[in-house]
Amino acid sequence: MKVYNTLSRSKEEFVPREPGKVGFYMCGPTVYNHIHIGNARTFLSFDVIRRYLEFAGFEVNFVQNITDVDDKIINRANEEGKTAAEIAAFYSRAFIDVMRAIGVKDPSIRPRATEEIPAMIETITGLIEGGHAYEVEGDVYFSVRSYPEYGRLSGRDIEQLQSGARVSVDPRKRDALDFALWKAAKPGEPFWESPWGQGRPGWHIECTAMSERYLGTPFDIHGGGDDLVFPHHENELAQSEACSGHLFVKYWLHGGMLTIDHEKMSKSEGNFLLLKDVLEHVRPQALRLLMLQTHYRSPFDYSVERLHEATSALERIESALRNLSWAIESYAGVAVAPNDLGDKSVSWTGDLLARIEATREQFKVHMDDDFNTAGAVSAIFELVSAGNSSVKDGIYGETHRLAVIEAHDTILELLVVLGVNLLADTGEGEPAYPDGLVDLAAELTGFVGDDPAEAVDVLLGLRIEARAAKNWSLADSIRDGLTELGLVIEDTASGTRIVRK
Ligand code: AMP
Ligand code: ZN
Repeated sequence: MKVYNTLSRSKEEFVPREPGKVGFYMCGPTVYNHIHIGNARTFLSFDVIRRYLEFAGFEVNFVQNITDVDDKIINRANEEGKTAAEIAAFYSRAFIDVMRAIGVKDPSIRPRATEEIPAMIETITGLIEGGHAYEVEGDVYFSVRSYPEYGRLSGRDIEQLQSGARVSVDPRKRDALDFALWKAAKPGEPFWESPWGQGRPGWHIECTAMSERYLGTPFDIHGGGDDLVFPHHENELAQSEACSGHLFVKYWLHGGMLTIDHEKMSKSEGNFLLLKDVLEHVRPQALRLLMLQTHYRSPFDYSVERLHEATSALERIESALRNLSWAIESYAGVAVAPNDLGDKSVSWTGDLLARIEATREQFKVHMDDDFNTAGAVSAIFELVSAGNSSVKDGIYGETHRLAVIEAHDTILELLVVLGVNLLADTGEGEPAYPDGLVDLAAELTGFVGDDPAEAVDVLLGLRIEARAAKNWSLADSIRDGLTELGLVIEDTASGTRIVRK
């Protein structure tokens, strides 16, 4: 398996420190607002990476923090007349809910900054003792000059950075590039006791302290969006390596930024989208499928058109899966095909089995190549088409049927590896039974039960009778009644059924 490492600016063979185990740290959100779809893109990308590592047999210890103390949270609290803790609690909950709604797996550990202050104080103390940090009036700064390799992750030159920063130099800092590890409390702000007086931690120290505490260093993978490479990750790395004297992270993985209609997301331009608002009219699985079609490191351009296309693509997969399920069920125990295709069935079975194997192989090859989800999705689509054509005239014997079952299950399984869980989202294969179905059957057929599945059977049975009797108005009212409930009748070679629109 190869992964692109920001540190070496190249694809490297992925060899975790401990065979079979992966220590993975992912910067979490600062909880002062609902997350936007750019954040969602990054969290989805890394969810897929984690899922694939697990699929590949690794035991992944996935740590993701929540930044629940920060200037932005404090500002928001002041604006709304609430405490910072109330704001953080509300948006943390909202974050966890919306992550679950899009099927992002919960991390193994979800530390919160405010609960990890002792670990941060310990790290800062170590840095001061080692000569890498200094205190000024209750603030503590990291001394960038004390870590000669500063700039190594982002490929920046410290001299150049310094000439850029000189203008805004704070006289209390020894060097313009030094950054705060601890900030003295200002009136009205949340604070914690520390050896340097009351105050709160800076942002960067949080991830250094928490990753050390929960994973130990060096650990295998550190993830986040491109925008975090500098200064956040550069600073994390400097603090950690200055403190421990050894490597912080083996593989640094960064995701590309999301734009909307080729523009940077910006509130003032009006092209700013919160994930929760998008999910009001879009299925989470469609959003996922859309994002999977672009490599995680490439920039991703979001547009409503692309989302519609992804929704159609998702529906094509679902419709194919329903076809396969339908055929599998309809032909259970049917030894001989209704019409005779003889040898064709043998070659169909062989072709389908070969396609399944090829899809599994290609899926792996693409994902092993720095998580090329776009390639993996196209391999799945080839199996979808092959499965569909294989059952278009029915199923010919048990061998063919077993191959179709395998195709169906392979599609579902590989999609789940990419986090597209059709069973969770839609109950693939099971028709949806909206309210009103039993009433419709009662009205049109005199049905007296209360089981919607039976109501469907009775309605479809009556429609067949009505058509045979050329009673078009009854057949049409059955179809129209179902349409009103959001259901469509599909006549296929292997029978008639209803599906959701
Ligand atoms: P933040 O709460 O700002 O630290 O962001 C949380 C995560 O979202 C980080 O990993 C960021 O890199 C990522 N992120 C922020 N903006 C975007 C964007 N426009 N596209 C993709 N990822 C983003
Ligand atoms: Zn971080």
